Amino acid sequence: MTNPGAVVRTRIAPSPTGEPHIGNMYVALINWAVARRAGGQFILRVEDTDRTRFVEGAEETFIQAINWLGLRHDEGPDVGGPVGPYRQSERGDLYREQAERLIEGGHAYRCFCTPERLAEVRKARQKAGQATGYDRKCRGLAADEVRRRLDAGRPHTVRLAVPLQGQTRFTDGLRGPIVIENREVDDQVLVKSDGFPTYHLAVVVDDHLMGVTHIIRAEEWIVSTPKHVLLYEALGWDPPLFYHMPLIRNPDRSKLSKRNQPTNVLWYRREGYLPEAVVNFLGMLGHSMPDGREVFTRDEFLKAFSWDRVTTTGPVFDMEKFEWLSGMWIRRLSAEELARRLRDEGFMPAGLAEKFSEEQVTAIVTLMQERLRKLSEFAGGVGFFIDREPYEPADLLPTKGKNKKPTRTGPEVLAAIETMRSAFAGEETVGQWTAEALQEALRALADEMEWKPRDLFMPLRVAVTCRRISTPLFETMEILGRDECLARLDEAIEKAGSLA
Ligand code: GLU
Repeated sequence: MTNPGAVVRTRIAPSPTGEPHIGNMYVALINWAVARRAGGQFILRVEDTDRTRFVEGAEETFIQAINWLGLRHDEGPDVGGPVGPYRQSERGDLYREQAERLIEGGHAYRCFCTPERLAEVRKARQKAGQATGYDRKCRGLAADEVRRRLDAGRPHTVRLAVPLQGQTRFTDGLRGPIVIENREVDDQVLVKSDGFPTYHLAVVVDDHLMGVTHIIRAEEWIVSTPKHVLLYEALGWDPPLFYHMPLIRNPDRSKLSKRNQPTNVLWYRREGYLPEAVVNFLGMLGHSMPDGREVFTRDEFLKAFSWDRVTTTGPVFDMEKFEWLSGMWIRRLSAEELARRLRDEGFMPAGLAEKFSEEQVTAIVTLMQERLRKLSEFAGGVGFFIDREPYEPADLLPTKGKNKKPTRTGPEVLAAIETMRSAFAGEETVGQWTAEALQEALRALADEMEWKPRDLFMPLRVAVTCRRISTPLFETMEILGRDECLARLDEAIEKAGSLA
């Protein structure tokens, strides 16, 4: 175990092979929290040794993703640090040096087997019902034979010489002691024939040289850990602490995959979800707050995080819960802040700022805030503020019940709209065009006309907002202004003329 007095250093080690996965963000959040709680460092290391799976730009989008969530790293390829470089592709000499040490110490050996031979061995072992590992043919090669083949330029890999007997043990911080029989461990390739290290060698060398004290990663790496522990032993290094986080699951308990659920965290950004909601949601996956609270900030999570409250059963990604949380977070913002987010994230329709003052835009945002679950829903809800939208004359009819039976005839509705138009057009409404005054006037008018207020509101709502469901009517009228409302009522009068 690492010196308990040492500073805590954690890391997230993405392979730049695709999109920033939500599962990686979950692991990043825990690593970030563990480092921050201890006043230590959270490191970003890019594991780009598998050149066949390398995706251009993946490192940048990963950094964008953790920055978006506010999981700032202290060291990494973009910000530097004392133990760089932070990209494995730039650390080749360090791996070669350690591979040589392993060979010299008899803990690793060169393997000249061709891919064809390895395929045959695999097939034969499969047929015989044996584990499909390497048959260790090159493990006993004499030193002069190795030299001869090296001089002849024969391509080769370097393999770990796993002890043939005994056991390897380590303690997983979440699961307790884990013991593996060495004879079940394969002579893992450490250096590939292209000279690049495999994940197993690189991860151990880097975690050691970078002073990582806590390895916190996904459960799927637990089977690799014995190999890593053997490497630490062979290199004469103390292994760090290991924690393997449970895998996030779909509601049917299968492993979270993009077939069932978007897994690219930047998709959530493009959809207009707030980073606060994503962090809050990730903080709920397999971890509960001491007071059972479900809505919490990143910093509240940081303060409350405890390994004791992390479960090892795979937490389920419940989209409904996430959307609920997202709506909560939108309502937690001030209207000004929500307006700023809409603008910054590209969800503010340009027409709104052209037609309305900043104060009015904030008022519109306030009207929408209650009904939003994500920023992308905003534009669709406010289109009618910018331009009138088409609607059918019949939409003006007030209706009742499930089968939408009209409660008033076309001519009655036409007359009612005309009455409202002339009431609103009076001189006294100039300078008095407020939601309160409008509501009061309309209720008085409904009394006078002996109409139910809700029957009168429907044609007015459709006339003004072009929709039967909209933002609150009188506040909307106040923002649209007197002239625009009168013009919209004129248009409704024209349409209602065609109603029988
Ligand atoms: N590069 C590995 C990954 O993409 C890192 C595994 C580890 O954290 O050791 O998940």
